Amino acid sequence: MKSIFLKRGKDESLKRFHPWIFSGAIHHMSEEPVEGETVAVYTSENEYIATGHYQIGSIMVRVLSFENEEIDQSFYERKLAIAKDVRDRIGVTGENNNTYRLVHGEGDNLPGLVIDIYGNTAVMQAHSVGMHTDRKTIAQALKAVMGDTLKNIFYKSETTLPFKAELGQENGFLMGGDTDDVAMENGLKFHVDWLRGQKTGFFVDQRDNRSLLERYSKGRKVLNMFCYTGGFSFYAMRGGAELVHSVDSSQKAIDLTKANVELNFPGDTRHEAYAEDAFKFLEQMTTPYDLIILDPPAFAKHKDALRNALKGYTRLNKKAFEKIQPGGILFTFSCSQAVNKDQFRAAVFTAAAQAGRNVRILHQLHQPADHPINIYHPEGEYLKGLVLYVE
Ligand code: SAH
Repeated sequence: MKSIFLKRGKDESLKRFHPWIFSGAIHHMSEEPVEGETVAVYTSENEYIATGHYQIGSIMVRVLSFENEEIDQSFYERKLAIAKDVRDRIGVTGENNNTYRLVHGEGDNLPGLVIDIYGNTAVMQAHSVGMHTDRKTIAQALKAVMGDTLKNIFYKSETTLPFKAELGQENGFLMGGDTDDVAMENGLKFHVDWLRGQKTGFFVDQRDNRSLLERYSKGRKVLNMFCYTGGFSFYAMRGGAELVHSVDSSQKAIDLTKANVELNFPGDTRHEAYAEDAFKFLEQMTTPYDLIILDPPAFAKHKDALRNALKGYTRLNKKAFEKIQPGGILFTFSCSQAVNKDQFRAAVFTAAAQAGRNVRILHQLHQPADHPINIYHPEGEYLKGLVLYVE
């Protein structure tokens, strides 16, 4: 295994188990590794400190282990078995719910790897060259850990890897090839388009927040803004909403939403869906909604975009505050990792003040337990939300 030696003092974060090594921390290498290769990392005193995947870029090593161990199928089996045990304990692997995140990158000590489970299909996504290199070994390990319950492994990394690495990666099955694409979340069914859909095909991270929404839906006129595949919409319908309108700028998302509503509530006329821009819709709408969901895409993908992102959140939420009925409930989210929960709350606070509404915070929401945050890697926290009562 090739070795990387750190500059003096640059091992501090590793002693606190932070899993990233930045290029500026590296003193020299025994030999230039190939991108994706597993390397051993040593302190300036030549003491072993970590093993990880090498990649060209600002984060040069993603740590897989702080113990001097082989990164082989048995290593991945041990990690995946722990990840599975965590999900069993959370209670997301039962009959009623077969959709959950099995591996959440750093949160499961597997930086660069995401695995979502949809019934008997796993969708695997590599965000690092190392995980791409190891994909077949990981698939074998996954098969061993999941046993007969797993029939298909779909690999979906066409757009998640650095294009400069020229890996020629393609989406496709590493096991099976089933096209039965209906999965279940808390007893509600939905189609997963793992081939063309965003992320791994469904936003698995809103499960708990959708459940909470269900409790607030009875008799309400609901607007689900940025609906994507309609997750919040069918929970609102089950919760007894009077009407549910779903909006997304993508026609494909609207088609998926309609199909999913039909799957759960065939012929139900309470639901309508519109392919329109959010800001335009909020500006022009006349329906007196009293429950609004705002779950926009990440406004800030990077730290530099932060200021504009915060302005975007304020502008969007202000529109909702201006229009929502008295006594209305607003579920508002940010999934930008670069925006922290205090910044998001301040952006929503500004929006409320600008709209001149009296607003109470009822719940502060975050990502669910199957998207855990490694305590040594606070960067893993990304989803935050507020449930607000608007007087
Ligand atoms: N709430 C969804 C996930 C939202 S993802 C769920 O629970 O699954 C964000 C969605 O916002 C995407 O589907 C994207 O098509 C849509 N979107 C992006 N920009 C938009 C805009 N300006 N107006 C309306 N929708 C937009």
